[in-house]
Amino acid sequence: MTDKKLLLHTCCGPCATASVERLLDEGWAVDLFYSNSNILSYDEYQRRLEGVLKIAGYFKVGLVEDEYDHDAWLCEIKGLEAEPEKGSRCGVCFEYSLGRTAAVSGGYSGWATTLTISPHKNSKLIFEIGKKAGGFIEYDFKKKNGFARSIELSKKLDLYRQQYCGCEFSMNRE
Ligand code: SF4
Repeated sequence: MTDKKLLLHTCCGPCATASVERLLDEGWAVDLFYSNSNILSYDEYQRRLEGVLKIAGYFKVGLVEDEYDHDAWLCEIKGLEAEPEKGSRCGVCFEYSLGRTAAVSGGYSGWATTLTISPHKNSKLIFEIGKKAGGFIEYDFKKKNGFARSIELSKKLDLYRQQYCGCEFSMNRE
């Protein structure tokens, strides 16, 4: 049994696929932390959670679910609603979920996030935010062919792959 324990902030099943595979290959014991208050509706939140549950079962890793509070998230990004995707609203959004992950990562060697597997996300910005929160381990999961592998595994496991990032301001923009 490894004493390398990592808490993995997880946004959805497809992003978790190749991220978890890589971490397990590198000898980590992994728990997923599903923190997704940025998602517009509870139905969509649950739909993405189903994919995360599938991944937890497939790889036999733990799963912790954060509280879903979209109203609190809306308060956090207030004034930035009209920002384009990849603009300053997204930085505040990352801070919100990653800050919550750091806050519960006390019993772990460190934490990382599946957000870096997406070519739509700025890994450099995510790293800056993660380092500020403390305990963060810099994993850029899109490297080592991570994104292509995530598509391959998502198809194999028949995972729901959403066509937009998650909040109401990201709909029809990707
Ligand atoms: S587009 Fe995505 S990253 Fe940006 S604020 Fe919305 S949910 Fe967060």
